[in-house]
This record gives sequence, C-alpha cells and structure tokens, in this order.
Amino acid sequence: MHSTVPMKARDIAPGRWPLILADVGIDPAFLDKKEGPCPMCGGSTRFFFDNKDQKGTFCCRYCGAGDGFKLMQLFGNMDFAQAARWIEDWYGGQSVEVRTRVVPRPVESDGLTPEKIILNKAKHKTLWEASHPVVEGDPVWKYLHNRIPGFNRGMLSNMIRIHPNLPYYQTTAGVTKKLGHHPAMISMILAPDGSCQDIHRTYLTENGEKAPYDDVKKTLATIGVKGGAIRLVKPIGNVLAVAEGIETAYAVMLFKNLPCWATVNTSGMKNFIVPEGIKYLYIFADNDLPNRYGVRAGFDAAQKLKKSSIEKGIIVKEHAPTRAGNDMLDLLVGLKRN
Ligand SMILES: [Zn+2]
Repeated sequence: MHSTVPMKARDIAPGRWPLILADVGIDPAFLDKKEGPCPMCGGSTRFFFDNKDQKGTFCCRYCGAGDGFKLMQLFGNMDFAQAARWIEDWYGGQSVEVRTRVVPRPVESDGLTPEKIILNKAKHKTLWEASHPVVEGDPVWKYLHNRIPGFNRGMLSNMIRIHPNLPYYQTTAGVTKKLGHHPAMISMILAPDGSCQDIHRTYLTENGEKAPYDDVKKTLATIGVKGGAIRLVKPIGNVLAVAEGIETAYAVMLFKNLPCWATVNTSGMKNFIVPEGIKYLYIFADNDLPNRYGVRAGFDAAQKLKKSSIEKGIIVKEHAPTRAGNDMLDLLVGLKRN
C-alpha cells in the first residue's frame, strides 16, 4: 500500500537490483551472473553481474566495476542523485500483488435517449471517416516523436488517425465560438465489446506541438457506454498495461516493453473493464496534485481500477510516482532524456 513517508532509494534497492535494473531497461539477459556482453559497451565476455550481498554489483573490463547505483548511472547516463530519485519515484509507490475472484460489475448507463445515441454514433463515424492514417512527418507523427524519445514507425496504431484541419470550439458562459482550425490526433476508444465507444481528439499545430488552448484534449460524444480504451496494440498473452494518456501508454510500450492501452482520462481509468483472458494488469497511474477539494483524481481512479480488477481475480501491479505532481510520462522518459 502507499506509504505517506517516501522510502529512500538506499532502503528500497537492496535485494531488488535485478528487478530495478530490468525496469530501467537493461535486458535481464545481461543479469544472469555469467560472463557476457556489457549492456553499455558490448563485447562478448567482458561483463558480469554477480549481485554480491544483494548490492547489484557488476564488473566490466572496460566500464569498471561497482554496485547497482553505479550500473544504473552508467547505463542511464545519470548521476547518483538522479538514479536514487528514479528508484524512489518508481518503487516508492510499491507494486502490489493480490488475487481474489468476484463477478464483474455491469457498465453504468448515462440515461441518454435512443435518438441522441444514434446522433452521437453518427458523429463518431463522420469524424473517423474524415481522418486518415498517420504517416511519418505529419503533425501527429511529430507530436508523438517529440513527446516520446524513440517513438518509431512500428508503433503507429490503426486506432490513431490524423485530421488535417479540425475546427476548435470553445464554450464560455454558454456561448460557443470557433477559435481556429488545427491538425488533430484522432483516436478511437473501443468499448469492451469492440465497438466504438467514443472518439478522442488532441488538437495540435503543424509543427506537432499542442495547439495554443487550455483544453486541447477532448472526447467527442458519449453513447452511454463505459469501460473502453484506445487499444494501441494487441495484448501479449495474458498481460496488459493501462495508462491514462496516449503518450504515457506509448512510453510504457517503448520503455517497459509491455502492451499498453490508453484509458484517455481519469473517468476512463476508473471504469476500465479488463478484457477476458487478461490475468496480469499493470496500471501506470499519474500521481497528480490534489485539486482544491484535496482530491487526487488520477490516483483515486487507479485505485478504483485496481480494486475492481482484483475482484475479478486479476493480478494487479501498480506503478505510480511517489510524489504528488510527478508525471508518469516524465518518469518513463526520464532515463532517455539525460
Ligand atoms: Zn562495459
């Protein structure tokens, strides 16, 4: 469970080094205690990881020797303080492993009229059909590429499209105004049954920056169905990860090598229904700052999803930055940014 007193890296790390080093991106094949190639400088037999006294110790004939902190610093190109901070942020949240079995809850309804649902479904279809696949160099590509170091063509999803020129509307005091036209990332949120639940929009500039408005991320129109997500990839076996944002979900795939879906927002995270066949769910939660009522919406939503999933017999592992206000996307790309 989450502790109110963050643990120090020196207390967290002992006994956990193989896990930590794998989590920062070192292939576990390097950590098998046999002589082999070095994760930093290559070769074939110059490196071994012996984890002496559970201190994560290693030796490379070229890079030198040291403990797990030293290995993290060399591999991640960071100083001790950055390595320690990374461990505290990553593990301070504590991963949890529990197992129980209860019947899933039905999806709630929003009390929409049948006419309104038909109208909103038509809105989804119209916008989706006015968009087209993302290609290298277009504003959506630039945006994802800017936000996620290492984003590549193989990661493009057919659930993400681009609209070249989408009008942006803002409603202030009951008056709706069109403020401009922008390229937009258009994403399909699939309901648990695989049908379209809603369309998500992220308004951008031609250069792949966020458009200059307060609220550049919007869903389109509800049809009263909940529990869905943007399915960026197919799950691998019985493992699935979820994050709120598309950007964070991509970072999870790139840096954690886990198939990850985006629930879009806190409401989507809270209500997400884990598909049949998934046995292990990784939740990558945003540890947001409390609002003026003291509510940490992202954190609370992840806790709700954790609870509902455990009730279905799913094994849940949760990652959240320890400090409120720290962003999961920043934490994931932190290593690559140095
Ligand atoms: Zn080396």
